[in-house]
Amino acid sequence: PELINQIAAGEVIERPSSVVKELVENSLDAGATRIEVDIEAGGARLIRVRDDGGGIHVDELPLAVASHATSKIGSFDDLEHVASMGFRGEALASVSSVSRFALTSRVRDQDAAFRIEVDGGKLQAARPAQHPSGTSVEVRDLFYNVPARRKFMRAERTEFAHVDDLLKSLALARGSVEFRLSHNGKPVRIWKAARDQQAQLQRVAEVLGDEFPAQSLRIDHAAAGLHLSGWVGLPTASRAQADSQYFYVNGRLVRDRIVAHAVRQAYADVLFHGRHAVFVLYLELDPAGVDVNVHPAKHEVRFREQRLVHDFLFRTLHEALAQTRA
Ligand code: ADP
Ligand code: MG
Repeated sequence: PELINQIAAGEVIERPSSVVKELVENSLDAGATRIEVDIEAGGARLIRVRDDGGGIHVDELPLAVASHATSKIGSFDDLEHVASMGFRGEALASVSSVSRFALTSRVRDQDAAFRIEVDGGKLQAARPAQHPSGTSVEVRDLFYNVPARRKFMRAERTEFAHVDDLLKSLALARGSVEFRLSHNGKPVRIWKAARDQQAQLQRVAEVLGDEFPAQSLRIDHAAAGLHLSGWVGLPTASRAQADSQYFYVNGRLVRDRIVAHAVRQAYADVLFHGRHAVFVLYLELDPAGVDVNVHPAKHEVRFREQRLVHDFLFRTLHEALAQTRA
């Protein structure tokens, strides 16, 4: 079973930022309003994610790190099948098989907290601990028992930059959640929750920093079961723009050809050629209209009605951009 968890880990857990992604997504799933990420040595020494979410009951702590696929894998064929599908519901099992791992949690409205530790896949019994409502996950010495993977980790600065980028993309997706990030004990980011649209714009500008354009246009339009909102940057002559493009489908960051094409066309048609647009856009649609599970670790989606989505995006952006010229 350990081998299988480690193979699973290799599939989804590429580097420290992939661990952060899984942990922060769990915190968001648990209804956290505040998430703190502490990194040491680019994540090679420590990745700790603390949240104020619903917490995990003591009886469920061992289940949280248990592998659900393991019992179902009876042959090599099965293993191959699982590997190609990716491992969902396996993040903690995978991470804990390739690190020195601890999970501490207190369920809201309960007065006791508990902690379990997993060392390279070996689970220790739950012990009482001190912890406020919510959950902390600590991942130390990532890949310490998988030398081939450990070798692939880059310089501390590079790995931290990946974590920072990842947190940026999550902070843009979830403006109502406070995020904090520290590296080697130093606070690096504090992004407060935004309650209204004005605060949201401020937060987007803060998260993007220098990448955020001097002039931006608010987008908010719904039609045919599709809703597009967010901000697009207007090009200015004076300032070179970074290539910051964030497109979320039902809250999930995606990179999609259809989307990219529609946006590029709209800009090219109205404003300028050959420059990169800056945008943070959120598309909401019926989950049945989109398959986001093409690969759990990639940013692919498949729209059921590609043409409809493309034309909706193009028209919405085209109209909004055209008004700035009128
Ligand atoms: P998945 O998220 O796909 O269910 P994971 O391995 O990421 O699989 O997590 C396993 C389970 O552990 C989750 O389903 C959830 O019940 C619990 N869990 C993990 N992290 C947290 C957290 N921060 N707060 C509350 N529950 C959590
Ligand atoms: Mg998860």
